[in-house]
Amino acid sequence: MNKTALIMGTGISGRGAAQLLLRKGWRVCVYDDGGVCVPAGCEDRSGLSPERALHGVDMLVLSPGVKPRNALSEYAALCGIEVLGEVELAFRHSRGEIVAVTGTNGKTTVTLLLKEILSAAGIESYAMGNIGVSFAENADRIGEDAVVVLELSSFQLESIVDFRSKYAVCLNITPDHYERHATFAEYTDAKRKIFVNQTSEDVAVLNYDDETVRAFESDIASRVYFFSLRQKVRGCYIESGKIYFCDERDEFVANADDLLMRGEHNLANALACVCVAKLMGVKSEVIEKVLRRFSAPRFRLQYTGEVNGKKVYNDSKATNIDSTLKACRAMKGSTVLIMGGYDKGISYENFFARLPRTVKRVIVTGDNAQSIKDGLPPERDFSFEITPSLFDAAQRACSGEEEIVLFSPSTSSFDRYADFEERGEAFDCIVGALGCGRV
Ligand code: ADP
Repeated sequence: MNKTALIMGTGISGRGAAQLLLRKGWRVCVYDDGGVCVPAGCEDRSGLSPERALHGVDMLVLSPGVKPRNALSEYAALCGIEVLGEVELAFRHSRGEIVAVTGTNGKTTVTLLLKEILSAAGIESYAMGNIGVSFAENADRIGEDAVVVLELSSFQLESIVDFRSKYAVCLNITPDHYERHATFAEYTDAKRKIFVNQTSEDVAVLNYDDETVRAFESDIASRVYFFSLRQKVRGCYIESGKIYFCDERDEFVANADDLLMRGEHNLANALACVCVAKLMGVKSEVIEKVLRRFSAPRFRLQYTGEVNGKKVYNDSKATNIDSTLKACRAMKGSTVLIMGGYDKGISYENFFARLPRTVKRVIVTGDNAQSIKDGLPPERDFSFEITPSLFDAAQRACSGEEEIVLFSPSTSSFDRYADFEERGEAFDCIVGALGCGRV
């Protein structure tokens, strides 16, 4: 075969797509507007005009970070060159069963928890996709009997064509990513695509408590199951502190208190996992054991330790308003919240209207400090401060009256850090320097 592909974007996904295509005998070229990282065996066409970059190319593969409409993709479409995303490419070469997971928040937590439950049940399983493991890089090497738990962002779903998964889960949808999706409707439509090619042989798992997600039911061709913290549903629900799965009959699975993870949002995440695991035939005893030991991934409402008798939590992964509100609600005691970061242009009025009363003080640091301040209500029962640095914010937070210090930025980290991990590490270092230690 003498086919040529051009891959746009040379991050984890783009490099994974390159590996897959090289293995399949393609000639592979890459193109990147930023720091190009040319995989071995590939030709770099970065910076060339669309005509030259696409010369002799049969297929253009877009990484999730690349906007679907760009000069190269438009020129490719004009020339009749096939344009597809990395997930779509991987899907065409995959053999294992796919459980796809999307939502605004909780995707990584659910992907990892579900993978752990399946592994504990003796099912060969892999966690991939948006968690940072390229699906394309591995798709053709995973056997038919294995399960791929695939975390999918709206950016990855936007470009799917035939992608279909046996199980598809949507956890929640709240406003986010206006830098890419012009409207909430457009963002919702991207998420909805996870179900678009499912048939009556497949299963959709939806959050009943989220109105936007619940409404998907009417357009879905697959069998729909729900999960709910509030009411009995076909699927997974809570009653008197107990987790049940209901298909033809109700089955007790575990006590909600068994869960090691904190907060109602994590209970909802667990219900989504239990629902899929039960539908896949996993025994309740296995699920219960995993729920008892599974802790949320790093920088997701992570307990850091104590300083000056206060409990400190690092929730650097909270990159939108809903995740920060969920973190605040999960805190059992008077709380000082440290927030702020990259300015996504989001209004904070709605945030302050929903802030629990346990938050006694808000300390803001980062580029969006003014946007946050602009959202303050005229009357409030918490104090508000803006500080120049995270160090200053942590120092002030740790020397107050509150029982809990919560770092939950509510926005991305790009104003000062490469990503949420670097920001999370910075916070850990700072509170470490202030004497924070595990007790
Ligand atoms: P994602 O992969 O969708 O970004 P993560 O599991 O990494 O989700 O969690 C991201 C942030 O959202 C963390 O701050 C976490 O505490 C919070 N979070 C996790 N699950 C939920 C949920 N179901 N609803 C709201 N926030 C959540």
